[in-house]
Amino acid sequence: MWFRQDLRLADNPALVDACDRGEIIPIYILDDENADSWKIGGASRWWLHHALEDLNRSLNQGLQLYKGEASAILSDLAHQTGAEAIVWNRCYEPWRIARDAKIKSALKDQGLDVQSFNGSLLWEPWQVLKKDSTPYKVFTPYFRRGCLSAIAPRQPIPIPGRINISKTSTHSLRLEDLSLLPKINWDEEMNARWDISEAAAHTRLDEFVMDDLQDYREGRNFPNKPNVSRLSPYLHFGQISPNIAWHRASEAGAFVTNEQSLDTFLSELGWREFSNYLLYHFPKLPTDNLQARFDLFPWAENTDADLKAWQRGNTGYPLVDAGMRELYNTGYMHNRVRMVVGSFLVKNLLVHWHHGERWFWDCLVDADLASNSASWQWIAGCGADAAPFFRIFNPITQSEKFDKQGAYIRRYVPELANLPDKYIHAPWLAPSEILMAAGVGIGIEYPAPIIDIKESRERALAAFAVTKVQPSEI
Ligand SMILES: Cc1cc2nc3c(=O)[nH]c(=O)nc-3n(C[C@H](O)[C@H](O)[C@H](O)COP(=O)(O)OP(=O)(O)OC[C@H]3O[C@@H](n4cnc5c(N)ncnc54)[C@H](O)[C@@H]3O)c2cc1C
Repeated sequence: MWFRQDLRLADNPALVDACDRGEIIPIYILDDENADSWKIGGASRWWLHHALEDLNRSLNQGLQLYKGEASAILSDLAHQTGAEAIVWNRCYEPWRIARDAKIKSALKDQGLDVQSFNGSLLWEPWQVLKKDSTPYKVFTPYFRRGCLSAIAPRQPIPIPGRINISKTSTHSLRLEDLSLLPKINWDEEMNARWDISEAAAHTRLDEFVMDDLQDYREGRNFPNKPNVSRLSPYLHFGQISPNIAWHRASEAGAFVTNEQSLDTFLSELGWREFSNYLLYHFPKLPTDNLQARFDLFPWAENTDADLKAWQRGNTGYPLVDAGMRELYNTGYMHNRVRMVVGSFLVKNLLVHWHHGERWFWDCLVDADLASNSASWQWIAGCGADAAPFFRIFNPITQSEKFDKQGAYIRRYVPELANLPDKYIHAPWLAPSEILMAAGVGIGIEYPAPIIDIKESRERALAAFAVTKVQPSEI
């Protein structure tokens, strides 16, 4: 049983199949070689370490660990152990699809029975197509017409009654040998924040559906409210399946008086599906603009200083800085703030979306090739069903609207904690005596804005106009 992005026992179709066959050898392979530029990022490696530790515990210390080229490792293992079959749940990143197809055919040639299952998505991407058999490019018809009118997501499958782990000895590495933990001590706050286990994923889902789902539709917009599920890393690593989340929320929906909240939550799970769907049908999603006219976009040059200020949360815009520091310190950022910081980078600073995507890849514990690429393309306006480019989030008005008293800002930008609500969103506008009383020197304790919002908006719109030029006019 080859575990990949399904680090759980519950609702795991490949595990059920393996256990039905008899004794199993559960394995995990850290395959950085095939991943190439999509090697798992720093924060996700930290998460993976703990998720593997938890899975190993659940398997009575029976999980075998390997590092390197998956094909060679699997082939050797099959030889050494005399395994008759290899099973896994499918992954949808282009590099994994290509690798897995090769592995499948090589192992079959070796005489093994190789089976793969769907353990990560509610609907297989190739099953949802328009009437003309082409893929959808717009979310609402994809989800409403393509998914919801198709067969409902299957019910979760129970944990196998008996998981009989083979005693065959192999050359498993120790978890430490995978070197997944950071060398420097930046995971302190992350350790305090997250409980990385399959059981914790279920507890969080239960809490969410009993309490926070009730007001999800509205509450999900406010970064300081508890209404979002924070299930994304558990879903990415497969510590909980989307089927479990879908059905448990739907069942609890009977008690949720605000029906629209349930509908909104299910459609967010739908966005996760849609991102995977886009990545499957448009495998260049992580690198190429889906709308080719954006290839002409005149990104700013010499942006190193701006990029660094953004990455470190030193832009002088409190909501942007709070978001970037939340990301760096906890491995997570609230969705609304992801949209605000993304828009600020791509539109106000005119930095290519690839740079934002890369930083998120390294810093997010939920870094997911499909959701991250699709979301960055959405923010940049070049995606399939993207926010129009001219919709530029204003970080001051977003902050006034969604963090009115600045509770979120005060938490992640403590140097502004003593400012009155009125000035927390744009501290440089505060009179000097108020700044002094709050202990804030602009340009000293807290940076002055690195760019003017109005001017940079005009600059972005002028840059955008270039994408409307026909290639023949260049
Ligand atoms: C620039 C940018 C980058 C992003 N990168 C990632 C990423 O690498 N990995 C990732 O999982 N999400 C990403 N998202 C989407 C979204 O921000 C997160 O999924 C969400 O904030 C996770 O928090 P949650 O679990 O509390 O979400 P909830 O609001 O509780 O939603 C439930 C689940 O639905 C899915 N979901 C929600 N919103 C989206 C969305 N817009 N797109 C795809 N799936 C969604 C997630 O699996 C999430 O766990 C990104 C968004 C932006 C704007």
